[in-house]
Amino acid sequence: MLKTVYLRFVSIIVLTAIAVTVMISSLPLSTDICKCEELISDSKHEILHKSFQESSTSDKPKLAVLVPFRDRFDELLKFAPHISNFLTRQQIPFHIFVLNQNDRYRFNRASLINAGFLQVKDHYDYIAMHDVDLLPMNDNLKYEYPVDGPLHISGPEYHPKYHYATFIGGILLLRVDQFELLNGMSNRYWGWGLEDDEFYVRIKDAGLEVYRPRNISTGPENTFLHVHDRLHRRRDTVKCYEQREVTRRRDRETGLNTLLYSIERRYELTINQVPLTVLNINLQCDKTQTPWCECDSKIVSKSQTESKKKL
Ligand code: UDP
Ligand code: MN
Repeated sequence: MLKTVYLRFVSIIVLTAIAVTVMISSLPLSTDICKCEELISDSKHEILHKSFQESSTSDKPKLAVLVPFRDRFDELLKFAPHISNFLTRQQIPFHIFVLNQNDRYRFNRASLINAGFLQVKDHYDYIAMHDVDLLPMNDNLKYEYPVDGPLHISGPEYHPKYHYATFIGGILLLRVDQFELLNGMSNRYWGWGLEDDEFYVRIKDAGLEVYRPRNISTGPENTFLHVHDRLHRRRDTVKCYEQREVTRRRDRETGLNTLLYSIERRYELTINQVPLTVLNINLQCDKTQTPWCECDSKIVSKSQTESKKKL
């Protein structure tokens, strides 16, 4: 009798222990590791990128977003998710290429775009040369395939800073075959400015028309966000040697066919789930042609005094 009671007692204890173990193992390890908000926002991004992947297998023309870049990481963190969501809403198959100037010469926006173009031209139908600090805010700015000619998205009526009629900087879309026909951009522009104005003349000389988005009801204050503090991100406006004279002239010699560069490395990154490719580009400078790819401070002050004398 005593033995039966004892056996029952033991079996109840064993069964309870098994039940408790099963219950504990089915609970999450710890309740505070569920970052539910993150999971929700991740799945939102997945949806966006799924739609990109679906459309990228479609017959739609593919867009390479070419971003000339050096030391603008804060801007890139804003740019990548913004442009990805913007283009996904327009169902455009695209990929972002960050053209990171890795050499120690002055920044050369046009040569970086030439180099980026040569890397992507066999896999994409059109390019957007896209400043990293200019974010489109109006969904009616359509980044569509520019069938008829270069499509200037950031026109002078809507750009926050530049308002002259022939301005084509900021964001410009071109068909791959048309960029090739133009021999790309001039490689003579080291430092800030004028490379886009020279490109405008190339376009005109080739008999092409520049198109701009129509029916935009926003203005210069709210069509784009220009993430650019001029004191924090100073423009390199120094001029040395014959830079001032040469860069005011139309360049019929340099372009895609004379570009000297190498790709040091390629990185595949994601920023907030947005995939992008960083190309570390080493530009080469022919100092017999463009000695101003480096401006020695002594030469700068000398040439500035000389140009003052001339005035
Ligand atoms: N840029 C860069 N690092 C530099 C200078 C320029 O990445 O040191 C790139 C960046 O994409 C930038 C574009 O070149 O948006 C145009 O330069 P910037 O913004 O100085 O010209 P802005 O149009 O504001 O006069
Ligand atoms: Mn800027």
